[in-house]
Amino acid sequence: MPKYDYDLITIGAGSGGVRASRLAAQSGANVAIVEESRVGGTCVIRGCVPKKLLIYGAHFADDFEDAGGYGWTLAGEPGFDWARLIAAKNREIDRLNGVYIKTLGDNGVKLVQGRAQLADPHTVEVGPQRMTAKHILIATGSSPKLPEIPGIEHVITSNEALDLLEKPKRLAIVGGGYIAVEFAGIFNTLGTQVTEVIRAESLLRGFDDDMRILVGEEMVKRGIDLRTGTVVDKIDKTEGKKNARYTLGLAGGGKIEADLVMYATGRAPNTAGLGLEESGVKLNDKGAVAVDEFSRTNRASVHAVGDVTDRMNLTPVAIAEAAALIQTLFHSEPTAVDYANVPTAVFSQPPIGTVGLTEAAARAKLKKNVDVYTSGFKPMKHTLSGRDEKTFMKMVVNARTGRVLGCHMLGMDAPEIVQGLGIALKCKAKKAHFDATIGIHPTAAEEFVTMREKRGEES
Ligand code: NDP
Repeated sequence: MPKYDYDLITIGAGSGGVRASRLAAQSGANVAIVEESRVGGTCVIRGCVPKKLLIYGAHFADDFEDAGGYGWTLAGEPGFDWARLIAAKNREIDRLNGVYIKTLGDNGVKLVQGRAQLADPHTVEVGPQRMTAKHILIATGSSPKLPEIPGIEHVITSNEALDLLEKPKRLAIVGGGYIAVEFAGIFNTLGTQVTEVIRAESLLRGFDDDMRILVGEEMVKRGIDLRTGTVVDKIDKTEGKKNARYTLGLAGGGKIEADLVMYATGRAPNTAGLGLEESGVKLNDKGAVAVDEFSRTNRASVHAVGDVTDRMNLTPVAIAEAAALIQTLFHSEPTAVDYANVPTAVFSQPPIGTVGLTEAAARAKLKKNVDVYTSGFKPMKHTLSGRDEKTFMKMVVNARTGRVLGCHMLGMDAPEIVQGLGIALKCKAKKAHFDATIGIHPTAAEEFVTMREKRGEES
């Protein structure tokens, strides 16, 4: 008789949990995964994937506008049906949910639907069912976090924004991070009047300062009413004949009216009610599961990956943490994830792609030994379309060694371009390697290999 029912029980069937369970099962382990909601997690069900589909949907509005400059005449005003887009998006999410469930089944992972709780570091309870395991993995992700202000119960989050029955006429979005910026872009492009309220002076804290300023300028050009340095201290709801209306009360006076209010003010790890602390599993001061570099908690049999650990909250990072954990647990090869030079993108309009150090971070580390190269231009597509949109690129280089420390881009295709630059930075590429690379002409990407003049030395 084996000592435990399973080699591994994973709690949470998001990207990290499913990857870990599948890899463990493929290594011959006996695995169960518990999920209280839909298999697929935030990224697939209510995050990256549906959001990107809405971004594709929104882009057609730009394409119809831009087509005129290329000789096209549209037969009439292009019509758009929000409900049809949401239904099509939901069909795709259902399909992916099915693929995830099938993957688990095909690999022999037992899927248990229900809310899991740790009874002790080797035992998971799902309702009346008790299961034991040699290893338990917490991969429960995170949820939107809301500030405690009067009227906060009236707001929606990105969860609901992806499933609205109707597109609002006026939307107020509070927050200046990835989610707020992306949703502001989607709704604005689809014709909603968007007001984005941020308490800081620039969007996207943590990104390179040039990107932060320029993305804000581009968003304003596209018609988003960006209110910087603005704090909302209450929200009032008024029932109208057909629809409700909302008033955001601003600190220091003033108000903003909207038909819907969305908050994207960060996310909190899903650790409540899991029996973690009762089982002796330590949380950190932000309520995330505290783990070491091998995703181990203070309880030897309990591990955690992804947003619930609040390390670097990105889907591909959660997947990498899951793969490293399975290598550690089931292949006797202790593996830690390298968090340096993780590329990331904001699917704003236009999008941002970024990898490595910002200029400010590089200067904080290397003081004067930082060279910066930039390029700003009108993308070729918009010479004929007439759209007033700029592309901006920036490279941050260690002046002593020539090593490229960071690449940042705002503009069409930035996420696709920066993914490749991520490999170059992983390979510790120097500016000289970029210079020796022949560009692909005519592309925007070629600017990254033709930047010759340091900032401050441009003729
Ligand atoms: P972020 O943590 O990125 O941003 C939170 C924003 O809310 C900041 O602008 C912050 O302002 C603001 N904020 C926080 N508290 C308050 C408050 N009380 N009142 C007003 N504003 C407030 O969170 P998101 O919700 O945008 O995203 C969550 C996570 O999801 C991110 O960590 C990201 O990694 C991930 N994600 C990744 C995506 C991608 O890869 N493309 C897309 C979407 C999400 P301030 O700057 O002043 O602190």
